[in-house]
Amino acid sequence: VMASMAHLQKEKLRLQEELLELQEKLAARENDELSLSLQLQGQVETLKAKLLEQEQEISRLRSELGGTDAEKHRDLLAAENERLRQEMKACEGELRELRRQQEQQQQAPCRDCPHLQENARLQQQLSQLQREAEETRAKLVELDLEVQQKTNRVAEVELRLKDSLAERAEEEERLSRRLRDSQETIASLKSQPQQIKYIIKTVEVESAKAKQALCETQSRNQYLQEQVGMQKQVLKEMEQQLQSSQKTEAQLQAQIMIYEAELERTHGQMLEEMQALEEEKNHAIEEAFSRAQVEMKAVHENLAGVRTNLLMLQPALRTLTHDYNCLKRQVRDFPLLLQETLRSARAEISQAIEEVNSTNRELLRKYRRELQLRKKCHNELVRLKGNIRVFGRVRPITKEDGEGPEAANAVTFDADDDAVLHLLHKGKQVSFELDKVFPPQASQEEVFREVQALVTSCIDGYNVCIFAYGQTGAGKTYTMEGTAANPGINQRALQLLFSEVRGKAADWDYAITVSAAEIYNEALRDLLGKEPQEKLEIKLCPDGSGQLYVPGLTEFRVQSVEDINKVFEFGHVKRVTECTNLNEHSSRSHALLIVTVRGLDRSTGLRTTGKLNLVDLAGSERVGRSGAKGSRLREAQHINKSLSALGDVIYALRSRQGHVPFRNSKLTYLLQDSLSGDSKTLMMVQVSPAEKNTSETLCSLKFAERVRSVELGPVSRKAELGSWPSHEHLEGDSPGSAAPPGRGHASPSPGQLSSHSASIRRKLQTSG
Ligand code: ADP
Ligand code: ADP
Ligand code: MG
Repeated sequence: VMASMAHLQKEKLRLQEELLELQEKLAARENDELSLSLQLQGQVETLKAKLLEQEQEISRLRSELGGTDAEKHRDLLAAENERLRQEMKACEGELRELRRQQEQQQQAPCRDCPHLQENARLQQQLSQLQREAEETRAKLVELDLEVQQKTNRVAEVELRLKDSLAERAEEEERLSRRLRDSQETIASLKSQPQQIKYIIKTVEVESAKAKQALCETQSRNQYLQEQVGMQKQVLKEMEQQLQSSQKTEAQLQAQIMIYEAELERTHGQMLEEMQALEEEKNHAIEEAFSRAQVEMKAVHENLAGVRTNLLMLQPALRTLTHDYNCLKRQVRDFPLLLQETLRSARAEISQAIEEVNSTNRELLRKYRRELQLRKKCHNELVRLKGNIRVFGRVRPITKEDGEGPEAANAVTFDADDDAVLHLLHKGKQVSFELDKVFPPQASQEEVFREVQALVTSCIDGYNVCIFAYGQTGAGKTYTMEGTAANPGINQRALQLLFSEVRGKAADWDYAITVSAAEIYNEALRDLLGKEPQEKLEIKLCPDGSGQLYVPGLTEFRVQSVEDINKVFEFGHVKRVTECTNLNEHSSRSHALLIVTVRGLDRSTGLRTTGKLNLVDLAGSERVGRSGAKGSRLREAQHINKSLSALGDVIYALRSRQGHVPFRNSKLTYLLQDSLSGDSKTLMMVQVSPAEKNTSETLCSLKFAERVRSVELGPVSRKAELGSWPSHEHLEGDSPGSAAPPGRGHASPSPGQLSSHSASIRRKLQTSG
């Protein structure tokens, strides 16, 4: 039992030792891990130290570079440094990440790891086993105690047994000795029968005593033997107990064995796991380390590159520093320089502006003066040319003129002077000088070219009158209206107006309106109105401007050539429908086309109004002479009256008389403000070159020359002439004696023409 107990104890101790060993290993492993993390930390530390070193190196390099203010380079280096630092930071981050991963590997994943659970379970089992071992130990102690007690008792019993055995042996020996003594005595007595008898008797007496003692001793021996049997039984019991306890112990041992095996297995597992974990950890650490190394290498390389760059840059930096210093100096001086330059430039500019301004002012002043001068000159020119001009136009011989001597040409021209015309009348050549004479071959364009200056002045706000005078069939309508293929002054004038207005559209707003009227038997009628028969009245403007206007006269706003064509057509249709014989009617009425041009200068707000009156007069033939009666005579009288009134007015205007008899006819009254003042008038005297028309031609030319001759005439002549001779009166005169007073050109020779007046006229023409 003792031996088994000791063995158990030893086993227990061994188990405890193993446990301790395991714990130590665990602690060692933890230590390992700690040291590893410390190592990693150390690596990071070294990296940091390296970074610091690099920074120091950079600062050293920078200080080596002489601490200049080469800001560009410093910036560059700082950027490089920053980049490195960022890389370092990234490395650190990665390292941290790795460590975290490692920790996770150590902790986090193990939280749910089966190994850990297994471990915990094993630990639990271990603790349970330990607890059981403890219990067993306690039991063992208890048993030990019991065994001790029993051993003690056994020892005691043995002792007692020994004692009693010794006592018995002693007693036996004593008894045997006495027996021998007795026997010897008996024998001696036998030999001495008396004696023996005595002895026997004594022995017998003594033997009774011995027999009693023996009995006593035998009973005692019995008792002791009983005691020994009892003790033996007890011992047997105890042995049984020991056996059972040994069995229990064996059981326990077996259990312990099982546990140990389990423990071993668990330990093995744990070791394996630990190894696996360690391997993993080592692997991770190795990886991290290699990565860190690679990064470090890269950083080193970068650093090397930077270092070489730095080395390379050093001389460049030096030159740059130098440049920079120069530039800095320049920049420092620049604002001053700039300010100075700016000040001077500003002064120069302001001076220049001042100069330009003054020049501009001067120019403006000059320009205004020139403008005024120009206007004055223009007015002077117009005055010299005469506000009233007389042109002659000879139409070609037409089929209507027939054939034979009647249709022969009676008009010839001066090759050198386009203002002179010779008429062969009754065998005598009469020369007339007008402002210009258009031969039969003159085209509409040529005619209009002479007229267009007048038309354009209408845009400037002048009033213009263009009259076509002459006997019926002399080409008045042709000149004014023309044909569709070859339009006359009317259309061309309006076209010109449109194009002029378009050209000035940038600064001016223009409105062009057109009216068409007819004066027949001193009655004014609207050709564009709804009721052409209605007689219109000419009235003074109520605004007190002295202007005349015709209430109810239709005005069409026109904006294009198409518009004018429509207006003309409309008027023409009206005239056609109203009259049975247009040609006859038109020859006895004055047809007026009144174009009004109203302008507004957008910049100055200046308003201008110009009127262009295009008048196709009634035929100037002397009907009165044929002894016409009734309405024909009345017509003739009206025509004569109005034509002579026109003559009077023109004459009065040209001779600048105080009184101009505008009111003598509807025509002059209507055109009053277009004839007076700054207005311009053109009389286009139409003549037929045919032999049969010479007498009318002569009359027309005389009328023309008379109108013209008052131009620039001496003031005294006004008094001499008194008043314009009546048309009727002139008609009565024979052409031969009809030479006007003063500067007549009745003389047949054109050479007698006043060379003085011709030269003046030429000058005017060239300047005009
Ligand atoms: P008026 O109007 O004076 O009575 P017209 O204009 O009707 O005269 O002209 C009469 C004729 O003469 C028309 O057939 C016209 O075509 C023609 N005629 C007039 N002048 C010219 C000219 N310069 N060139 C060609 N034909 C003309
Ligand atoms: P002279 O000097 O040759 O004697 P006058 O001076 O006597 O000439 O002029 C001759 C005539 O001419 C006079 O009847 C005079 O009235 C007239 N005369 C001269 N100059 C002008 C003029 N500027 N305006 C109008 N009549 C004039
Ligand atoms: Mg006509």
